Amino acid sequence: MPSSITHLECSLCGASYSHREPMRLCPDDGKPLFARYDLAVAARTMKPSNMAGRQANMWRYEEVMPVEHLTSVITLGEGYTPLMHAQRLGESLGMNALYIKDEGVNPTGSFKARGLSAAVSMAHQLGQMKLTMPSAGNAAGAMSAYAAKAGMEAHVFMPKDAPMANQLECVAYGATLNLIDGFITDAGKLSTEAADKRGLFDVSTLKEPYRVEGKKTMGYEIVEQLDFTVPDVIVYPTGGGTGIVGIWKALDEMESLGWIGSERPRMVCVQAEGCSPIVNAYRNGEEFAEPIQDPHTLAAGMRVPAAVGDFLVLGAVRQSGGTAMTVSDDEMVTAVSKMAGYEGVFAAPEGGATLAALEHLLQTGGVSSDERVVLLNTGSALKYLDVLGAASSASS
Ligand SMILES: *Cc1c(COP(=O)(O)O)cnc(C)c1O
Repeated sequence: MPSSITHLECSLCGASYSHREPMRLCPDDGKPLFARYDLAVAARTMKPSNMAGRQANMWRYEEVMPVEHLTSVITLGEGYTPLMHAQRLGESLGMNALYIKDEGVNPTGSFKARGLSAAVSMAHQLGQMKLTMPSAGNAAGAMSAYAAKAGMEAHVFMPKDAPMANQLECVAYGATLNLIDGFITDAGKLSTEAADKRGLFDVSTLKEPYRVEGKKTMGYEIVEQLDFTVPDVIVYPTGGGTGIVGIWKALDEMESLGWIGSERPRMVCVQAEGCSPIVNAYRNGEEFAEPIQDPHTLAAGMRVPAAVGDFLVLGAVRQSGGTAMTVSDDEMVTAVSKMAGYEGVFAAPEGGATLAALEHLLQTGGVSSDERVVLLNTGSALKYLDVLGAASSASS
């Protein structure tokens, strides 16, 4: 693999570590580590004019992916998802440049495939063949699928109210599923304990350095699919925030590669009313977020009461001139129907949340109708049939 990776760097204190050792958080301050690359070397081959013929998945950006051994790339064809001009939905909102990036078509039905393809590949390269993670849903399914593909052992710690699809798929992929009577934070503690006791490698998001490398490819794709320009606004449904952090990292890398200049999209972080630690911190002018005590929302991917990368999400939102806001579960469900009816995209509630947020922003003037806006539909509604079914029978 022509990876130009050079080392790992702490996203807070800047300390350097080797990418040839299995690493999790920075040993000094407990903050996420980022993979760093020699982007001058990468730029020699990774030119806009060289991209057209490459493989139609996220490994097309191989120079800025961390895996060095081709035999360790564990792929199910994730990424290079369509960026669709949402013409009818846009018209209904008075917009002519609305786009939906449809991550629901990824393997395992969500964009978690990107992060876990990268993390499982790096675990494989580093000889870590037994994985564990806490997950409220889609991440566990993705880890289990990539572990199956790689012939690795997978252990999942999942709150028992996770969508049925996520429980079933983990078992089908051969993972050991531990259902927890508690929140994702409780599942996290049990996963950490299991990792310590049984020598498992914990791939919790941003607590290992490579899931964000997979998710950053969404940023590369958006820019490539817009002919090497940046949109005005990207709306992102935020749980742990790995996607927003990844896209922001990709934009910096693309500036160094000469793909774009210093212009940036305004990053909009959307959270659920019942679980909005990052929005609260944004409103209070804080750099780090206070954990939420009783998180509740039907959007399992956004039910994350505390995120280790909180300061990175807040940094991206503030530096970009974006904003952070909440939407209700009812608004998400209504928006899911609207996106389906206008665009033929059956979005996860998290994807619906981006449309609900956009509607608010158009009303308040936070977004103007002539701007180029990308909504990230992070998953398929087909993973949430039980949840959406319960929501529609409750409201009728
Ligand atoms: C995990 C998840 C999210 C939140 O992603 P983060 O990058 O952790 O913020 C959003 N939508 C879906 C469908 C998810 O599975």
